[in-house]
Amino acid sequence: MPNPKRQHSRQRQRKRRTHYKLKTPVFGACPQCSKPILSHRVCPFCGYYKGKPVVEIKPKKEKEAAS
Ligand SMILES: [Zn+2]
Repeated sequence: MPNPKRQHSRQRQRKRRTHYKLKTPVFGACPQCSKPILSHRVCPFCGYYKGKPVVEIKPKKEKEAAS
């Protein structure tokens, strides 16, 4: 196995890592409820995919105060 002969300098390491970036996800609009959703995924708001209801969306539970 080839091994690096020398340790890379911090500058070199940091220069390489300047390309490591987070991308913002691309949102499209849901055709059913027109909320922003990720493409190729079931809408988390109405549960529709390809114009049909696929998942049943339960109404969000309100936090119950335990005594
Ligand atoms: Zn929707």
